[in-house]
Amino acid sequence: MEAESCEADFWRDEVRRFLPDAGGALVDALGYVCCPVCKVLSDVSYEYFCRLPRRWSDEPAMRRAVCRARGFCSAHTWLLARVQGQITIAQVCADVLDAVPTPPAPAEPCPVCRLRALVEKALVEHLGRRLADADARRHYARLPGVCYPHLEQLLRVDLAPGARETLLSCPARGVGRQSPFLCPEERPAGEVDAHR
Ligand SMILES: [Zn+2]
Ligand SMILES: [Zn+2]
Repeated sequence: MEAESCEADFWRDEVRRFLPDAGGALVDALGYVCCPVCKVLSDVSYEYFCRLPRRWSDEPAMRRAVCRARGFCSAHTWLLARVQGQITIAQVCADVLDAVPTPPAPAEPCPVCRLRALVEKALVEHLGRRLADADARRHYARLPGVCYPHLEQLLRVDLAPGARETLLSCPARGVGRQSPFLCPEERPAGEVDAHR
């Protein structure tokens, strides 16, 4: 029970660390011609690996979370290789391999995918609440809007009157998950070619 509460605290702190201000991050991302939720998520993954070397030495809880997952998923291992140098990559690999239990136990999900899922939920809920405000709806209606997967998630949130119509009126409805300039490793595998 105590371990579960420690883990919940760890993930709550991770979200706070990478999304200290959901509203500010969304306002900034709304200035780009792409889905604002995808933009923030892409930034979070990149920032995660930028901060990794310092955190790896200073934060045992973060190191343990990566080791319990046996490292990262394929897409995020590629991103680690793009962002960090060989020494950091070698250190992570060595520590992850050292921590493999005997006999092997099931690995936890990729920590970056897990963080992104939590950040995504917070962003979608925040954007849904934001659209309760008429000025915010007018502003949003002039923008390209969110991608189809995030539109679907937003439509499942308890929205204020008028918000649903605003979301459906934006030109980006039905487009792919991310804008072409975002990191290709961040896209689901089936969507990569469609953006080339
Ligand atoms: Zn999106
Ligand atoms: Zn991942």
